[in-house]
Amino acid sequence: MQTPTKPYTLIDGRKISIEIKQEIAAKVAERKQAGKKIPHLAFILVGDDGASQTYIDNKVKACKDVGYHYTMMRFADTISEEKLSKHITAVNNDEDVDGFIVQLPLPAHISVERITDRIRPDKDVDGFTNRNFGSIISKVPLLMPATPFGVMELLRRYNIETEGKNCVVVGASRIAGAPLSMMLVQQGRATVTICHKYTQGLADYTRQADILFVAVGKPGLITGDMVKEGAIVIDIGTNRVEDRSKPSGFGLVGDVDFKNVAPKCSHITPVPGGVGPMTIASLLLNTLRATELRHP
Ligand code: NAP
Repeated sequence: MQTPTKPYTLIDGRKISIEIKQEIAAKVAERKQAGKKIPHLAFILVGDDGASQTYIDNKVKACKDVGYHYTMMRFADTISEEKLSKHITAVNNDEDVDGFIVQLPLPAHISVERITDRIRPDKDVDGFTNRNFGSIISKVPLLMPATPFGVMELLRRYNIETEGKNCVVVGASRIAGAPLSMMLVQQGRATVTICHKYTQGLADYTRQADILFVAVGKPGLITGDMVKEGAIVIDIGTNRVEDRSKPSGFGLVGDVDFKNVAPKCSHITPVPGGVGPMTIASLLLNTLRATELRHP
């Protein structure tokens, strides 16, 4: 006879992101009513990468949903770093723009680090600049990195306590794992282990996790035997895989083998519909914050 598995709670990032968007739309309407400035978000897209275009389309749609103004700036992938930097300076100085993002990836001849750090920190609504990255460890963060900010918000809205918990973060990138680890320590008061490509015996760490976060970009990296019973699993990975049943020919999966991991969990995020929509919600929250700071 099979042991019945306990039902798990699916952490519905799509639903929470809709709630956040409704809250933001109400605040935008209030600002409009009071004659205050409406948030204005600008997008810089270099080249014609299909995935980047999809991400930008979703962000533009989110702006429309909440009533933000937006500007789309497109450049050919042959643009020089110097020219792109000049455009960034222009947006930095544009008084009407409250926040902007440079969609990644950039062409190989352009340095992501140099370009990102040209963005004015108080308009850096992706939270990628060194100033905003560093501000995570201050008690007064400026604009937080969007993806980890979204993860922390998801935990908060599901009443998932991190204080004193054993959190394991797999992946240590600049945009996901590294800032998330720091936020879990600083804001979440968790005990945090960070694992990466060179970690020996990954499963020995993941099995210790009360809450496991995964941001690597490898479908199926986390298997059922790597997760302890009752753990909470947050899958940040977003990987395009071939799916002939879809009109686009591809589908999205995370880094976690959902089918075999979910039955062991108390809570788990799906992909798609988990962390992804929260990143866009965070972008909108950061843009509102940037606007409120400049135009209280
Ligand atoms: P990245 O820059 O390539 O970083 C991947 C990280 O994983 C690195 O720290 C790398 O270690 C580590 N790693 C690689 N192989 C590993 C392994 N076998 N075991 C353990 N760690 C390993 O990627 P990223 O930009 O952080 O993105 C990671 C995933 O998250 C992708 O699927 C991406 O699409 C997704 N993502 C989703 C969102 C969202 O909004 N949902 C936002 C951002 C990213 P080293 O540091 O040693 O190289």
